[in-house]
Amino acid sequence: MANKLKVNIDRDDCISCGTCWTTCPEFFEQNPEDTHSQIV
Ligand code: SF4
Repeated sequence: MANKLKVNIDRDDCISCGTCWTTCPEFFEQNPEDTHSQIV
């Protein structure tokens, strides 16, 4: 059985620290326009 993950980002509270896209680049990336995190 395949494992499933549900990923959410509260973009209004994102401070663009980079922890999420540094540690899990398969799920997160930095939006080039507003610098906040987004789902890959
Ligand atoms: S860059 Fe990622 S870890 Fe950092 S505040 Fe934004 S969502 Fe959270």
